[in-house]
Amino acid sequence: MKKIALFDTKAYDKEWFEKCNNDRYDISFFESKLNPQTVELAREADVVCAFVNDDLNRFVIERLAHMGVQLIAMRCAGYSNVDYHSGQGKLKFVRVPAYSPYAVAEFAMGLLLSLNRKIHKAYNRTRDFNFNINGLTGMDLHGKTVGVIGTGKIGKIFIDICRGFGMRILAFDVYPDPNADFEYVPLGKLFSESDVISLHCPLTEQTKHIINKKAIEQMKSHVIILNTSRGGLCESQALFAALKEKRIGGAGLDVYEEEAEWFFEDHSAQGIQDDTLALLTAMPNVLVTSHQAFLTEEALQNIAEVTLDNIDAFFEGKELVNEIK
Ligand code: NAD
Repeated sequence: MKKIALFDTKAYDKEWFEKCNNDRYDISFFESKLNPQTVELAREADVVCAFVNDDLNRFVIERLAHMGVQLIAMRCAGYSNVDYHSGQGKLKFVRVPAYSPYAVAEFAMGLLLSLNRKIHKAYNRTRDFNFNINGLTGMDLHGKTVGVIGTGKIGKIFIDICRGFGMRILAFDVYPDPNADFEYVPLGKLFSESDVISLHCPLTEQTKHIINKKAIEQMKSHVIILNTSRGGLCESQALFAALKEKRIGGAGLDVYEEEAEWFFEDHSAQGIQDDTLALLTAMPNVLVTSHQAFLTEEALQNIAEVTLDNIDAFFEGKELVNEIK
């Protein structure tokens, strides 16, 4: 039986991979993230299955290839953490391009609704029998302008949701959809006219720090920025400075530039050493969540099924429709 080493395992990963495996593979579930220190755990494996914050750098990939691992099966869509070029010709890479675009788009709207109407604050107040509503004023979303950067699977669903709220849509994408029934505008116009800006593009050299000091200077003073894509899209220091100086209205962050060290784990007893993340998390107009936008039953099932199908296709010599190359 072929062996899979599954890194960064959480209880929900184990549950769904065990449900979907049907005794096809011998899966070892490791809680550790994959990185140069843990790569030796994959010594017996034919396949390595990794996630968003595993570190698949050149060393790790060359080491895995040397140990006889044949396939890296990413159980996520983004692969900015994978130096796949260094493995070309030695092993193959696959991913799960879409597991539930609805999960992420719906979560982005959830962040917006909570932040705008201060639902997270109201929840804390009423649990303490504080029924005062001072300071909880929001704005009507109806008639406001939302700027969507990246109009792929998730961006388009988010646009549909925003339309349901009666919002005006402005979009930016380097590959605009010619059949789109919404308006594409240059990035500068999107920055200056939007009341809400939501990021739905991948992290690439071009998009790194797409939200930086210069971009923020063009925005409305009450703009709410939503990032459910990748932390590196926002320059954290610039975002923090703008929030502190009240040059923007708020931020909903499901991802963070340096999240790999902190997200998905419980640090409540020790606290964290990342001052920017600690300060952002403590700000009244910021809502930080721990990369959970994908976390629905449907998405977890799709992740497990598509990952195992990708692995089947590899061993059966079929076309790798989800290959990273
Ligand atoms: P997608 O590939 O369907 O769409 C991405 C869009 O971004 C494409 O239309 C592409 O043309 C556009 N794009 C690429 N470069 C751009 C640029 N420089 N400027 C503007 N647009 C650009 O991807 P998707 O499934 O919609 O996912 C979007 C992102 O969401 C992923 O890259 C991933 O990082 C993130 N994501 C996050 C979670 C989470 O749990 N928070 C889960 C899944 C995906």
